[in-house]
This record gives sequence, C-alpha cells and structure tokens, in this order.
Amino acid sequence: MPKVFETTLEINLPALKHNFEVLKAKLNTDTLFLAVVKAFAYGSDADVVSNYLQQLGVDYFAVAYVAEGVALRKAGVTKPILVLHPLVKNLGLAIEHCLEPSIYSLKLLQEFEGIAKNLNQNNYPIHIKFNTGLNRLGFEPEELDLVLESLKEASSLKVKSVFSHLAASEDFEEQEFTFAQINLYKSLTETFINGLGYPIIKHLCNTSGVLNYPEAHFDMVRCGIGLYGFGNSEKETKNLIPVACLKSIISQIHQIKKGASVGYNRAFKSISDIETATLPIGHADGIGRHFGNGVGFVMIHGKKAPIVGNVCMDMIMVDVTNIDCKEGDEVVFFDASHSAEKAATNASTISYELITGISQRVKRKIVTT
Ligand SMILES: *Cc1c(COP(=O)(O)O)cnc(C)c1O
Repeated sequence: MPKVFETTLEINLPALKHNFEVLKAKLNTDTLFLAVVKAFAYGSDADVVSNYLQQLGVDYFAVAYVAEGVALRKAGVTKPILVLHPLVKNLGLAIEHCLEPSIYSLKLLQEFEGIAKNLNQNNYPIHIKFNTGLNRLGFEPEELDLVLESLKEASSLKVKSVFSHLAASEDFEEQEFTFAQINLYKSLTETFINGLGYPIIKHLCNTSGVLNYPEAHFDMVRCGIGLYGFGNSEKETKNLIPVACLKSIISQIHQIKKGASVGYNRAFKSISDIETATLPIGHADGIGRHFGNGVGFVMIHGKKAPIVGNVCMDMIMVDVTNIDCKEGDEVVFFDASHSAEKAATNASTISYELITGISQRVKRKIVTT
C-alpha cells in the first residue's frame, strides 16, 4: 500500500470492479444496471468512478441533482443519466446536458413539459416515479389516471421508465411491508404501461433490494452502497470490498501527565501518564463530533488508538500510549479490514453517512492496482 503524507481518501478501482461484478452476478443477464453516483459517488470521486463504471459496462447512471449530472457530462460520461430529485429551477439545464429527470409530481410534469416544448424537444426521455410507501417523492397511486392524461397531451416528452423506491429493503423485520410495496408497484406499473401503450423500463430495487428481493429486480436495478463495498448486513458485506480507505499521518506526539487535560473544554482528563498523537483531520473533514471521547478510534501499526477528548475542526488527538509510533507515521481511519460500516455503527450512524461526509478538503487518490 502506498504511504500517504497528508489526510487522504484512497479510491480503490479494483475493489469497485469486484463489487460491480458481485452485484451483476445476482442479476439475470438481461437486467440493466444503473449505478447511483450521487453525492460525489458516495463521497469517493464521481468523475473517476463514473468513467470507470462506464468502461465496465454500466447501462445507466443516477445522481440526485441536476448540477451533479452536469459535472458527469463534463467529465465525459455519455451513458444516460437519471436525475432523481430535479428541482424546477434547473430543468432547462437538464435538457441542455441530456439529463433525464425523475418526474414525481403534476407540477413538475407541467413545468418540464413547458420547458421541453420551448426548447423544441420531441420525445424527451423522462422517468415517472410513484410513491409506494416511502412517502418521500413520487406520484400517489390515486394520481395514476391524471398522470396518464397529462402525458397523452405532452408530445415533447416520452416516458422511458417507471420506478419506485423501497423503504426498508435491508430490514428483515419489515419484509411484509416490502412485499406490499413490491405488489403495489407491480399492479401500478401494469396499469400504467397498459394506459401508456408502449413498453418502458421498470425498476424498484436499491442495493439491499437486489440482495434480498431477487423476485423484484424487474428490468433494471439501482445500486449505490453495494458498489462502494457495503451490503447493509454482515453476511452481504463480507462478499464486497470497501472502495474507500481513509488515511492520515501523525503530526505531533505529546506526553500527557496524570491530571492534565487534552483538547477543547478539557473534555478528557488523564488519570495516568499517557502519550497522545495529534492527527490532521477533524469534523470539517467528516469525522463528526460523535466520534470523540473514545467512541471512534484509528489504527496505527495495526493497533487501536481511541480518540481522546472532543473532535476539533481540523484535528483529533488519539491515545498511543501502548503503540510504538512517531511523527509522520501512517494512521488508518477505515479501510478494507477496518470498515467504515463498523466505525459508523460504533458511533450510532450508518456507512452511508460516514463515507458521504468525508469533505472535499480531503485529498482523493485513485488506486488502480
Ligand atoms: C440513493 C438511491 C438509491 C441507491 O441506494 P443504495 O442503498 O445506496 O443502493 C437507489 N434509488 C434511489 C431512488 C436512491 O435515492
């Protein structure tokens, strides 16, 4: 492994390839694969990750917002890009960059149809989103006829897919709810496609849906977290490889006398003589304050060094009393063997939050072997 000289998020492309292949192997050969690369590809590097996935043969991409899609186009992504949560203000920009909006309300449908017409579009691809129980975005099932009616008059638009999103695909205790969502989605799409009169892509599953509900893959699946190495369960995660490794170095070592305090608010007071290391990473880099006071730890030469006191904006201090280390030595926050998922669980959060929260201040380094 290459040595780092500053706080660095390593992005491991062979791991990404591995995860893509593991997920792909769960699908029928004709099921399309949409890679979710919103939020800088879950905090990694959207440009590099998307281009690499494009080479690997991903069929579709999805981002949350139009600006993220524009960035992908500028980085050379030519495959179709679904924008999951477009806002009215950016719809013109979406068309300019061939981005395909998710249409989740009548207002958005009307606005988009007007903009597409103004820009002389014909059959511009859109994706119809139904709410089947997440209660976040999407048309209500009762609006189905209204949607169909509005679409019949919207000659500037053409529906490319109909989709919904599962609320608890990772949660076995909510299986009954998930089956109800799947059944509702099935019946809605059947009526919708009949009314529309032409075939379109059906898709429902995120990563945990792919893993836990093989009968619900339909024509396409939308994978995010699995590509980055997490399966939302120990059993699934063990077949995947985390793509991102967060590393840093020791800036300074301190000898802390019994009774002395460390850090802001004197949150830590030592009950014995100890040694601490100060590291150049803090809450502004994505290590939240909830990791402070012994909740989080780093690995130094294979040994655990717990965080001492409060997390500062740009620094943390860790206890290295029993570790033979010096200034400049490498520190690991998470990697393939000390997973971000476990670190997140310790701090009462989830892998998604920890990895997407690594701020843009942290240098990204692409690892290709
Ligand atoms: C983020 C997102 C996904 C990806 O979910 P993962 O659990 O990361 O696989 C899929 N679909 C929608 C609508 C999303 O917002």
